[in-house]
Amino acid sequence: MQEFGLDIWANNNFLIENGQLKLNYKNNPSLLEITEEIRSSGARGPILLRFPHLIKKQIDSLYNNFSNAIVQNNYKGSFNAVFPLKVNQYPHAVNAITREGQEYNYGLEAGSKAELLLAMHKTSHQANITVNGFKDKEMVTLAFIAAQSGHNITLTIEGLNELKTIIDVAKQTSLSIPNIGIRVRLHSVGSGAWAKSGGIDAKFGLTATEIIQAVKLLQTSKLLNKLSMIHFHIGSQMEDIAPLKKALREAGNIYAELRKMGATSLENINIGGGLAVEYDQHSSTKSRNYTLEEFSSSVVFLLGEIMDTKDVKHPNIFTESGRFIIASHAVLITPVLELFSQDYHEDFLNFKDKNPPLIDELIDLNKLLNDSNAIEYLHDALDHMESLLTLFDLGYIDLQDRSNGEILAHNIIKKALYLNSSNPTIELEQLQVKIQERYLINASVFQSLPDYWGINQSFPIMPLNHLNEKANRAASLWDITCDSDGEIAFNPQKPLYLHDIDLDADDYFLGFFNVGAYQETLGMDHNLFTKPSEYTIFIDNKGYKIDNACESKSILDILDSVGYSKDEILTKLKSDLVKSDFITEKEKKRYTCTT
Ligand SMILES: *Cc1c(COP(=O)(O)O)cnc(C)c1O
Repeated sequence: MQEFGLDIWANNNFLIENGQLKLNYKNNPSLLEITEEIRSSGARGPILLRFPHLIKKQIDSLYNNFSNAIVQNNYKGSFNAVFPLKVNQYPHAVNAITREGQEYNYGLEAGSKAELLLAMHKTSHQANITVNGFKDKEMVTLAFIAAQSGHNITLTIEGLNELKTIIDVAKQTSLSIPNIGIRVRLHSVGSGAWAKSGGIDAKFGLTATEIIQAVKLLQTSKLLNKLSMIHFHIGSQMEDIAPLKKALREAGNIYAELRKMGATSLENINIGGGLAVEYDQHSSTKSRNYTLEEFSSSVVFLLGEIMDTKDVKHPNIFTESGRFIIASHAVLITPVLELFSQDYHEDFLNFKDKNPPLIDELIDLNKLLNDSNAIEYLHDALDHMESLLTLFDLGYIDLQDRSNGEILAHNIIKKALYLNSSNPTIELEQLQVKIQERYLINASVFQSLPDYWGINQSFPIMPLNHLNEKANRAASLWDITCDSDGEIAFNPQKPLYLHDIDLDADDYFLGFFNVGAYQETLGMDHNLFTKPSEYTIFIDNKGYKIDNACESKSILDILDSVGYSKDEILTKLKSDLVKSDFITEKEKKRYTCTT
């Protein structure tokens, strides 16, 4: 593994220089420098940094790959994309999406009324809006309002009832009718943890029989000219490209059949989202088997081939990839508050004039351990430590002796591990896990990495500095919630090694990468830890600018947001203080003053 798997997950977005992690863009600012500048204004907790240039990079690469594939395959349809709002609805993420996507008329996808209203607010009339998810009459009416206001909107029906609702609303109002899409229920299944989105047992979509019924309904209601799109979505974080190809063949043939049945306004195939992001730091566990180039050329080639065989016009292609576009733009940075095993620091050794003989032997082993004797001395030390603990239990040595013994044994294990780190034995690997360092991070896994907690998804983790030193401490990360699930345990299959840092002398920050998709809205206020403060970082050739600061909620506001009255809490706090005996008259005055 190269440094922290940078060559696997980072997509050249970051580089290491002079021991620091830097952005690989324009003047390459260092993440530590940005973090320290933000902290110099008083921020102390975790921070979320957004990098809009990384959103632009993903949008550009999506459009460029598809337009290349279109040219190479002599494909006649166009390429269009929308961003699914459910992946990140936060204003500074959405603003960056619409700003960076403007030149392509990049649109938005909505799955609820609130998201639809947001999409109407944020898209220009040139860009597309697609609407998925369950729709009641109110939502359908909202889509009519969007169409009437000039939006290029397509309502994708997930079932026949929704089509009936659309027909009802069309009859009842004189508002413009939105375009209609049909989500097809594929018999071919999806891949990844979200496979339920596709497949015959899927939650969404019309069966073949229902599609035929839908076309008849549209015909009798004189709305067939509104049927413009076939849609499918086989699931998120697609690891394998094979199921997509099957789905394309199936949906492509449905499209061709429908055109032959007289749906002449049907011009678009929407292939949903699902493009995967590399979250893994270890090459042995890479999470996807295709590149964007392969993905785009497969889609374009297959659709062209199906249409040519059936002599049908090439459809315009729509994608709704969310994760792929937005995951990389956000980095969570957390200070490390404590290394638990600093209790084993040599500074705490406190020898007596006459130590027990086993302690004297440990002192020698610690002093004389070297490359050639490391394993033998390690075994001696482990043996001595066992004996010392037995002696303690039987009352023969005191607590100070035991403490000295533990510190020395710990140190010997660390040294032996370090000397053999390039070629560890199974025994050493097991010891490594046993004496792992626990890093307390100022963050909540539930708030900032909910998919780690919920579905055990890993995120790339690495320090922002000290990168010219070898990281050799097996690390587990503990968050500040008091929930035992708030831990990213050391995993010998995907080991994370961090530095041995003296936090009194130096700050140590960890970055959590690719956290821009899904984590922010799924995050929860467990233990009443709120969202981290967030900042948008604009980088140019001269430097960088920190903008759009959204500071995290104050603790009173958090209590307020779950339904307590902030004023009542403050009033009670003050009156209790004033009543207490230990407070001076002067202070009493201070607390009775209204703030
Ligand atoms: C969630 C969803 C997407 C986005 O999926 P990603 O894996 O984030 O690309 C696209 N389309 C539909 C219908 C969805 O439900």
